[in-house]
Formats: sequence, structure tokens, C-alpha cells
Amino acid sequence: MRLAEIHSSELTTDCLRKTYHRLMGEVNGEATTALYRGLVAGRACELLHQEGFDQDTSNVTVSAAAFIQKQLAEENRMLTQSVEENRLDILAEVTDCLNLYRDRFAHLFHQCELLGTEVPARYSLSTEDGEIKFASHLDLVVRDTNGVFGYGKGKLLVMDWKWRQQSPSHQYLARNMQFALYYMMAKWGYLKCGPKAFEWMDYGEDAVLFWIHLPGLKPYTRRTTAFNDQGEEQEFVKGDLRPMRSVLYRVEYDSAQEHLIKAELKMRAKMVENDVFPLNPDPVSCRICDAEAFCTRFDTATIGDSNQ
Ligand code: SF4
Repeated sequence: MRLAEIHSSELTTDCLRKTYHRLMGEVNGEATTALYRGLVAGRACELLHQEGFDQDTSNVTVSAAAFIQKQLAEENRMLTQSVEENRLDILAEVTDCLNLYRDRFAHLFHQCELLGTEVPARYSLSTEDGEIKFASHLDLVVRDTNGVFGYGKGKLLVMDWKWRQQSPSHQYLARNMQFALYYMMAKWGYLKCGPKAFEWMDYGEDAVLFWIHLPGLKPYTRRTTAFNDQGEEQEFVKGDLRPMRSVLYRVEYDSAQEHLIKAELKMRAKMVENDVFPLNPDPVSCRICDAEAFCTRFDTATIGDSNQ
């Protein structure tokens, strides 16, 4: 399957078979709670950055929800019955998250320069058969003018808002292809952001990547012993905020390993081009996968019978 441009999600998914089904239009077209909540939360965070942290967060959530509902309708995706029934609870959860996000981050982001949200990004790789073009959008790009995130004054930071059940491990992030591609885009590709957001800009910088784990903003719900931000074991009680290390997960790339990122991207692009889409089932991913009803299975149940 030769694609004019490869979107990051097509190569960086944990299961390439999912990419195949998406490209074939074989998805159930439903927006589940996890998807809907993540989209609304991401859009709401974007609005906070674009229009100021002092807005009424309930209004921000409502605006974000309206935007996402329109976007889903344009993509012909229906909200599941569960989302319809629990919509108000989901939006209240997003508002709580926004309040915590503002409380923990507003003072830091006020000391950074906002370069853009939902930033279009491009990167290309030459191969013996031509050029492979990659495209994506980066959730948030800032210049840490005052070095408040700890990587020196003026560091370029690329951040991604995530609402996932599980927090990422550093072992996972060190190999995460989405983030690796974002790093390459910021260093060797082009971003449409900064003061002239209509122009493609060649930053050419080593960015630090951050996974912002939104569920990590929630306070502890019971007494827990965990490592604090000083790396010491500490007992937290119900209502305590989790340490910053449970919210911000960063990846600092080693430029000496860039050839490995390129090789991995090329290999995946080649697999797509040659219609190689291996199954990579996972206990959680398969349950929530929007291609599950179309995906190969080896048991006696009929394809599409998602209750078995
Ligand atoms: S159902 Fe599982 S194996 Fe099939 S595409 Fe989805 S994640 Fe991959």
C-alpha cells in the first residue's frame, strides 16, 4: 500500500494490523468513553494555552466538548450509548482535570514562550526507492525561556497530553515510535508554529519530549507509599497530590541513536508498502480497538462477535 504521506499514527501504533483496518475503512465508527474523554481533555488543554489559564474551566470544557462533537460528526463517528449516558460525568471529570492542570502548570507555562498547539509537523526520509514523507500534529510546543522544566534556558519542549489508563514506563517511552518521530520532526523536519504560524519552520533543535499523563493529576484516593520528586520513598495520604514524576514523563533523546529511529521508521514504512500488517494482540488494546470487529481471529466465534 503506497501512501503519499504517512501519518504518525499509522506507523507508531502498537498493532500494525490496526493500521491496515483503518486504511481499509474497517473501523466501527464509535467514539468510546476513553476516546471521547481524551479528545475533549486534549482540546480543553489546548484552549487553556491558547486563550489563557484564567478562564472559567467549566466553560472551557463545554467549548472543547462542542468542538469535539462537531469533529466526530464530520468523521461519521457516533458517541457510544455509554458516552451519551455519562456525558455530564465525563465533562465534570475533564473540568476537575483542567483545574488541577492549571494549579500545577500555569505558573510554569507563564514563564515559557508558547510556540503553538496542534502544531502541524513534517519529516521525510530518503530511501533507495525514493522519499518517505511523515506528517503529524504536535499537541503543544513551547520554548522554556526560563529553564523552569529543568533542561536549561531556551530549551525546545514538545509535549503530548495523554489520558490513558496506564502510566507509561521509561522503558516504554525510550522505544515509543510516536515520540521518536516527533523528536526527528523537531530536529530534522518542519513545524508550522512560532510567530509566523503560516510558514514551515526548520527548528533544527534537540527537543525534550514530555508525555503529560492527565490521570496522574488526580490526588491519591487512599494511603500510598511512592517515590516523591526527590526520589525518596514517601507515604502519601488520601487527597495528597501525586508527585510531578507521576504526571510528567520525559524522554531525552541521544542524537547518536538517530540512525536507529530512522531504521525503525523505514522498516515500518516498508512493511506498510508491502502490505505486511502483523497482528499484535494485547489484553487491553484488543478490547477497546475500533477495528476489533473486523480483525482476524483463530477461535470458533464469528468475526464481529465482540461479546466473545
Ligand atoms: S483487535 Fe487486537 S490484533 Fe486486531 S487490530 Fe485491534 S489491537 Fe490489533
